[in-house]
Amino acid sequence: MDRRQLLTFAGLVGVWATIGCQPSRPQQVRRPPATLPGTGVTPAPGDVSVDFAGLRRRLTGTMLLPDDTGYTAAATPYNAALGIRRPAAIIRVADAADVATCVRHAGGRGLPLAARSGGHSYEGWSTPNRGIVVDLSALRAIHVRPDGTAIVGAGALLIDVYAALAAAGRALPAGSCPSVGIAGLTLGGGIGVLCRAYGLTCDHVRAAEVVTADGEVRTVDANRDADLFWALRGGGGGNAGVVTAFTFGTVPAPIISTFSLAFPADRTGRVLTAWLDWMGTTPDTLWSLCAVTSAATPTNRVTGTWIGPSDALASQVARLVDAVGASPTRESSRRLGYLDAMKYFAGCTSSSIAACHPASFPGGTLDRNSFHAASRMLVRPLTASSAGTVVGLVKGGPPMVLLFDALGGRVGEITPSETAFPHRRALASVQIYSGANNGKSAVFRVQRDLASLVGSGAYVNYINADQPDWAQAYYGANLPRLRIVVRHFDPNGVFTFPQSALHAEPGG
Ligand SMILES: Cc1cc2nc3c(=O)[nH]c(=O)nc-3n(C[C@H](O)[C@H](O)[C@H](O)COP(=O)(O)OP(=O)(O)OC[C@H]3O[C@@H](n4cnc5c(N)ncnc54)[C@H](O)[C@@H]3O)c2cc1C
Repeated sequence: MDRRQLLTFAGLVGVWATIGCQPSRPQQVRRPPATLPGTGVTPAPGDVSVDFAGLRRRLTGTMLLPDDTGYTAAATPYNAALGIRRPAAIIRVADAADVATCVRHAGGRGLPLAARSGGHSYEGWSTPNRGIVVDLSALRAIHVRPDGTAIVGAGALLIDVYAALAAAGRALPAGSCPSVGIAGLTLGGGIGVLCRAYGLTCDHVRAAEVVTADGEVRTVDANRDADLFWALRGGGGGNAGVVTAFTFGTVPAPIISTFSLAFPADRTGRVLTAWLDWMGTTPDTLWSLCAVTSAATPTNRVTGTWIGPSDALASQVARLVDAVGASPTRESSRRLGYLDAMKYFAGCTSSSIAACHPASFPGGTLDRNSFHAASRMLVRPLTASSAGTVVGLVKGGPPMVLLFDALGGRVGEITPSETAFPHRRALASVQIYSGANNGKSAVFRVQRDLASLVGSGAYVNYINADQPDWAQAYYGANLPRLRIVVRHFDPNGVFTFPQSALHAEPGG
């Protein structure tokens, strides 16, 4: 861990929800290994060559091959723990027609083809080795209509979406990290600091423009290709076509109170149970995250948002303090406009919007984060004893944090089958996150042990190559329908990746 991470873990800068949002350290540029002429890759058995020169001529956008300047930066995943990738080509598409050209002329020829929007896939699966990256970063236009609906290009990053909406007095519930792509986030659900008040990001999708495996550009909504529209709302990125634009419904931009408090470390188990009970009894306009951080005596931190009068927040927080039975060791609160609140959670309160995503990913600089992460979905309350066991999982060991991110509220008002996001009844998502180089095995161990304590589901946006029983964990009861939709629109596996719904076994 570098100094910034240490400070963050100590709770001295930023907030817990920003862990991993700002680059941890400049990453060394590692040259890709020697490549073969042409595609720059060693074709695996069964690979069929793609005429990249011919494809380049058909595109309005640009193409990077391994020998081109800028390839290395563009081929390095956001998660630097993954090292460098060696895609055969990175194609920066200019429009949906370019995406269709890529799919028609390169898809299904033995090379994996993946869309990349914000590039924040935990496993780097938007930058496949030997594959083709359809880089949507140029499709980042955002247009807010007078009726409040917003057309958002799939390459837009969260902070740019927030800034454009705020300028029009509108808001969209979405994630904290400024440089996460709106596309990957929305396709997997979209959990964030306003989700209890307004729902998941995917709940606000009214329509999407999507290029399917047959190279067709379709507009899907509740009436047109309704099954595909269903799958795009929580069924996970990379499964069912390349989305080029979303139409979102938005809400009036709220004034938001943020709060943050910590209790004595010897109370951490009690904080966890009190926090969970509290989240079950607070109004939907209150969202909160409870972080439990590894230490000899694991520490705690509760942060959150509130939409409503400040004095009403004070009485809500007082109920939590009473339930914990100890005074907070630290406590702060501020009242912010929507965009300032989003910048606060992004960890860039005093920066310009441009400086808010300094990683300039994909492409630009090589500022990245190095981390290991996995998840569980908490579906049952914790007893004092099970909370103690949870806290014990991070006693000592490598630096790690468990982020309990409250759901419920508007998220839970939708039935689990209404969109592909299945975890509507979960009380919280639990992210297991470590920025330590040696954190991988510890994250795996905690993820495994949490299953019997909180539930065996997992959030597809915190995708994890080692996730046991991944298809059932990500999709639950929605898996059979998702498989049918994906098979229908992509029978030959053009968009395949290691945890594609196409590979999911029928039973789970
Ligand atoms: C630092 C950090 C903070 C995060 N915070 C949150 C949070 O607050 N809330 C939350 O819910 N999640 C959060 N996430 C998880 C995030 O939602 C996922 O990692 C998401 O998949 C990232 O989307 P992306 O477009 O940036 O990534 P990408 O790597 O571009 O894509 C992710 C996956 O989606 C596919 N995909 C991308 N674009 C498209 C497209 N246009 N059409 C079809 N498939 C596509 C890719 O092929 C890949 O499989 C965070 C992740 C990180 C790294």
